Amino acid sequence: MKIPRTVKKYCPVCKTHTEHTVIIVKPSKQRTGLSWGARKAREGKKGKGNHGKYSKRPLNQRKRGVFKVSKGVDLRVECMQCRRKHVWRIEGRYKKVEFVSAIRK
Ligand SMILES: [Zn+2]
Repeated sequence: MKIPRTVKKYCPVCKTHTEHTVIIVKPSKQRTGLSWGARKAREGKKGKGNHGKYSKRPLNQRKRGVFKVSKGVDLRVECMQCRRKHVWRIEGRYKKVEFVSAIRK
């Protein structure tokens, strides 16, 4: 999907339509092995046999999401006048999201 770098949108703070810059939000890194649940799961997997809640999930559950090629996009817009950020909701999943200077209609 192609999105423009700047869009004219309504700003609830300025209460008028102003120029906004578009930002793609990337998912933050997950902390590894520090949370209580993660430590509990590591403890639970020690030894042999079935570990109940902490056992390996079935294959179809582990591989879920691996085969998907598209992802949902998290877009934010920043008002150029008041520098406030707002969420810009876009429906659907997309393979690739890229910025273009202007979209021809
Ligand atoms: Zn504003």
